[in-house]
Amino acid sequence: MNDLQPVRGTRDLIGEDFRRHAHVIDTARRITATYGFDEWATPIFEDTRVFSRTLGDTSDVVTKEMYSFTDRGGDSLTLRPEGTAGVCRALVTGGLTQSLPQKVFYNGPMFRYERPQKGRYRQFHQIGAELIGPAEPLADAEVIACGWDILVALGISDDTVLELNTLGDKESRDAYRTALVAYFTDHSDKLSEESLSRLERNPMRILDSKDHGDRALVANAPTIMPYLTEAAAAFYAKLQDHLARIGVPFVENPRIVRGLDYYSHTAFEFVTNALGAQGTVMAGGRYDGLVEEMGGPPTPAVGWAAGIERLSMLLQATPGVVAPVVVIPIGDTAEAAAVDAVQSLRRAGIRAEIGYRGNLKRRMERANKLGARAAVIIGETEDSRGVAQVKNLATGEQIEVALADLATHLA
Ligand code: ATP
Ligand code: MG
Repeated sequence: MNDLQPVRGTRDLIGEDFRRHAHVIDTARRITATYGFDEWATPIFEDTRVFSRTLGDTSDVVTKEMYSFTDRGGDSLTLRPEGTAGVCRALVTGGLTQSLPQKVFYNGPMFRYERPQKGRYRQFHQIGAELIGPAEPLADAEVIACGWDILVALGISDDTVLELNTLGDKESRDAYRTALVAYFTDHSDKLSEESLSRLERNPMRILDSKDHGDRALVANAPTIMPYLTEAAAAFYAKLQDHLARIGVPFVENPRIVRGLDYYSHTAFEFVTNALGAQGTVMAGGRYDGLVEEMGGPPTPAVGWAAGIERLSMLLQATPGVVAPVVVIPIGDTAEAAAVDAVQSLRRAGIRAEIGYRGNLKRRMERANKLGARAAVIIGETEDSRGVAQVKNLATGEQIEVALADLATHLA
């Protein structure tokens, strides 16, 4: 069977890897709750159109990265490459578009057919937050502040920088688009083939190109700022005011466009230098058009998603496990009392283990290997007197405790 390997781009989460992963989710769940978000879980596969219609047919995700398949009933399904489209689908099909705002936190696996490398996998995991309903820049500021607070709580905010941009409203983008097409057409001989194909269909996407030659051109491309309508510029200014008031540090980066097609106004990324090329840990923006694309009424929304693997890699320390108490019977007759004791500890919420075999020495060795904080030793005499010897494995100190008082003593 040793020809069986994990599928390329997938990872098992075991031991420390799992604990780091779970710590990211637990922290995000706790912080988003303080902002009034509720947790949703949507299916990991959807009708392919949920993504193809909404992510835009020029996005990398739709053109190259989706895991799509036809199921036995002949339907085209796709393993979700991201979470926002599914949340908006659920909002529409669940009849929640009249119950706004909805503040949604989610986490779970996402699937993209990418070239695996450090921080880039084919099954990866995201936490995400969506604030659906409000059109005000305060909503954008709160969503960003919530993301920032998670980075602070994870102890990784010092390593990350918030880069902020605006994509304006439709009128701003149309004017900007014309300027971008003119600029890139002038330099079309230096554009990568992929960007050439985007020139017609979605020139802003070129700003997101990872091609080395493109990046040099992008560096000198016009920015959207001079093309912003008064309303779009005011929105962006207000967002910056709110962020400054809340105390979320940011730098402006006019090159940020986001990988997916459904964004308007705010676009942002939390970026780190600590992960090489995979530097974006959290990314998001405003997507006022998406719910309507999904068949709902026009509905403003803003949100972000963050890669759990990338956040986990940035954690300074691995969360530990709670040290257990180990119950050790000596001799056959004490086993029943030991089983009762270990169960009473567990029912009191104490992590407790019982060895399955071996003499006192072997069982003590195992207790140490488990990092146990205490050993509860029950021999024949202890059993008959209804007591146990409790040894504190940190100090070596040993005292006698009545079996009935074990849980209280060890709590
Ligand atoms: P990138 O530019 O790195 O490809 P993206 O723009 O495709 O990122 P988003 O769709 O915005 O990424 O997803 C949000 C976050 O999810 C990213 O910032 C990153 O932390 C994480 N992420 C995206 N794709 C992967 C992947 N293949 N493996 C691990 N994490 C990922
Ligand atoms: Mg990508």
